[in-house]
Order: sequence, then C-alpha cells, then structure tokens
Amino acid sequence: MTCSYPTVAVVGGGASGMMAALIAAQVPGRRVLLLERQQRIGRKLLATGNGRCNLSNMNAAPEEYFGNDAGFASAALRAFTPEDTLRFFSGLGLLTVVEPGGRVYPLSDSANSVLDVLRFALDQAEVELQSSFPVETIVKTGRSFLLQSGTEKLHADAVILACGGAAGSKLGGVSDGYRLGKALGHRRTGLYPSLTRILTESDYPRSLKGIRVEARLRLTRKGLLLAESSGEVQFTDTGISGPAGFDLSRAVSFGGDSQILHIALLPFDEEELLRLLYARCRRFPGLEASELFTGMLHNRLGRVIVKAAGNSPEVELSALTDAQLKSAVRCCLDFSLPVRGVEGFETAQVTAGGLMTDSFSPETLESRLVPGLFACGEVLDIDGPCGGYNLQWAWASGHLAGRLGS
Ligand SMILES: Cc1cc2nc3c(=O)[nH]c(=O)nc-3n(C[C@H](O)[C@H](O)[C@H](O)COP(=O)(O)OP(=O)(O)OC[C@H]3O[C@@H](n4cnc5c(N)ncnc54)[C@H](O)[C@@H]3O)c2cc1C
Repeated sequence: MTCSYPTVAVVGGGASGMMAALIAAQVPGRRVLLLERQQRIGRKLLATGNGRCNLSNMNAAPEEYFGNDAGFASAALRAFTPEDTLRFFSGLGLLTVVEPGGRVYPLSDSANSVLDVLRFALDQAEVELQSSFPVETIVKTGRSFLLQSGTEKLHADAVILACGGAAGSKLGGVSDGYRLGKALGHRRTGLYPSLTRILTESDYPRSLKGIRVEARLRLTRKGLLLAESSGEVQFTDTGISGPAGFDLSRAVSFGGDSQILHIALLPFDEEELLRLLYARCRRFPGLEASELFTGMLHNRLGRVIVKAAGNSPEVELSALTDAQLKSAVRCCLDFSLPVRGVEGFETAQVTAGGLMTDSFSPETLESRLVPGLFACGEVLDIDGPCGGYNLQWAWASGHLAGRLGS
C-alpha cells in the first residue's frame, strides 16, 4: 500500500508543528520536513511558564477555549486530552508533575527538558529539520505544493501550517501564518493581544509595584459585567499582571473604552470585613488609621486603601466613624481602577483571533478551500486562558493535523 501524502512539509517548528511532524512521521515511508524560520526550533516553548513550561492543564476542557466559533476546537481537544499529553510526554521520557489548578510542569522545572525530549523524538522519527528557513510563499500546483524561501524551493504533497500567532514577538511571534493562509484563499479575524498586562489609568499601581495578592477581579463597562476571574494579581508600575489579570486581558482587548477593573482584595463580604475592622479598632484604639489593614493586607496596599477611602492616615483607629470604616471596606472589596488598555503583542502570551475556522474541517483541520493544506496551533482563531491551556491546544491540534485526515 502506498502512503498518502508521501512528502509532508510542516511550516513552523513550534509546539504544534513539532507535534504534527512527529505524528505525520509515524507513517512508514513518508518524508516529513519541519521548516523553521528561526535558527532553532521551539524558541517560544523555552520561554513558556517563566522558563518552567506549563505544558498542559488537567482542566483543559473544550468549553474553556475562545474564538469566534470556539466549538471548532472540541474535536481536536477531545481526541487528545491532557491525560493523552501526559502519556505522550511520558512516552518520550519526560517526567511531569501536576500542580494546584491542574497546571502541568516538567518535574525538572525546566522548559529545556520539554524541548529536549521533542528534539530527540524528531531525530528518532527521522523528521528532516530545516531551520533558518522562513517560508515566504506556498503555492498549490496541481496536486502538490511548492514552498519557497529565498531562492530555495521545496515540493510537498501536503502542508501543515503551524506558524503560530503574532503574540510574543520578542520570541519570534510573527504574522507569517496569516499571510501565507491569506495567499491560499483563507481569511482571518481581527487580532488582539491576550494573556498580557492590563494598563490602568490610576496613580495607585505605581506605588503598589511589586505587590502580589490573591484576589477576585471583575471587569465592567458602563455598569455591565464583561468578565471576571480570580487568583494571583501582581501590581506593576503601569497596571496589573499575574494569572488573574492575564485572564481578563482578552476581554480588555475586545472591550473598548470606559472599562473599570474592580479588585476584591480580601475573601470576605462587606459585613464580615466590617466586623473584623470593628474588632481591630477596639483592640488597637491608639494605632493610626494607616495601620487599619496591617496584618491583613500588604502594608503598602493597606495604606493605599485607607487613603483611597478618603481617610486621613494619622487619625487614631478609635476616632474612625462607621461611615469611614464602611468606606474602607468598600474600597478594599471593590478597589476600582479605570483601564487604559493592554500591553501589545510584544509581551502578550497568545493571540486572540487568527485564521477563520469556518474554512477548516474541525474533524481533520484540513482546509475546505485547499485540499492537502492543514493548520494547527495559534495561527487558527482559537485561544485559551492562562495555565497550560494554549500549549494543550497546540499539542491537541498538532496531533490531529499530523494525522493528515487519516
Ligand atoms: C512568554 C510566553 C509564555 C507562555 N507561557 C505559556 C505556558 O506556560 N503555557 C501555555 O500553555 N502557553 C504559554 N504560552 C503560549 C504558547 O507558547 C503558544 O500558544 C504556543 O507556543 C503556540 O504554539 P504554535 O505551535 O501554534 O506556535 P509557536 O510555538 O509560536 O511556533 C510557531 C513557529 O513557527 C515559526 N514560523 C513562523 N512563521 C514561519 C515561516 N514563515 N516559516 C517557517 N517558520 C515560521 C516560528 O518561528 C515559530 O517557531 C506562552 C507564550 C509566551 C509568548
């Protein structure tokens, strides 16, 4: 029996492209080329999870993903679940650990380990790697494809587009995938940076720089709730960062002007917190108001809340009125910051938007416009929240595309 697609070109040596190449190469007699524009494959992978590589999340169910038609991702994600990711990497010799929140990391705590086992596997599978090979054009000629980079030309029977998205441009994130897709008749949605820092207009964050807190966040616009999240927030000199902030950045990107970020800095309701503060004032009547939250919040954060609530920091706790305490409670449970926007693609972890999925089959990831063309990973209009979801999509979609419809 002759193999379908005897020569396959995978364009992009990132997470999804490496997976697609490995799966495609499982068919005996097939030649698989992995074409990468940078000097090395997997450069972005090395930077993931702050160098630890949060390679999946055990809670990465299809309902967690976004896109104009997020349901498109279901078939790929169901066919290759987080458990499959663990099994797959275990088969390559990688030991992993599952941390709170379902986040999966290599036991070594080093993204290098993930890339190393993938590189060994590619080598073993005899995938032909061509780095420093930026594919500039892909043309369908009859039943095969002609790919060109400078003066070099390659022929392939099938092409898997795995060029990633525009996010992480410092690490080589580019728009090539959208351009190559467009030249083959595909359209893309608008592109928005996601999983990135939220920029606020308030003066408060500057003094709060460096403080981390577990918080609940809500994003509103003209009184309407746009999105909410909870988890770690980090204050920066321009706004907020950290997983809970990142998870709202997609909504900020899409949401337009007049957005307000509301931060609940303690896990209590108003009544509970008020009771705690009354008890505090009774116990430490001689302390200054600036110490109202001492022992409950980071000192600097506590002082900012006292000030934001309109209380003079030097007044003694015994002198604070009911109204003043209630105002401090409201400020602490609804610390509101007007939003200016998000940081751009340079620092964003993922692109929201991409090649429109309606022109691809969700069952195979093959183009409905160009037979033999497949796409996977971030180049498609699918993205996930913070915590290993985007790499899970890269592995799952790469796995499906690598099957080339079989
Ligand atoms: C700083 C940072 C941290 C992150 N941390 C996490 C994390 O911990 N967990 C998580 O799940 N996700 C994380 N992500 C997101 C995740 O890395 C991406 O969603 C994922 O890598 C996408 O995989 P991909 O294969 O689609 O694209 P990429 O991994 O970006 O790979 C695309 C590859 O294609 C190559 N390429 C592009 N154009 C061409 C061309 N014309 N010719 C040849 N090659 C080309 C690129 O150079 C690149 O190597 C992070 C992202 C960033 C930027």
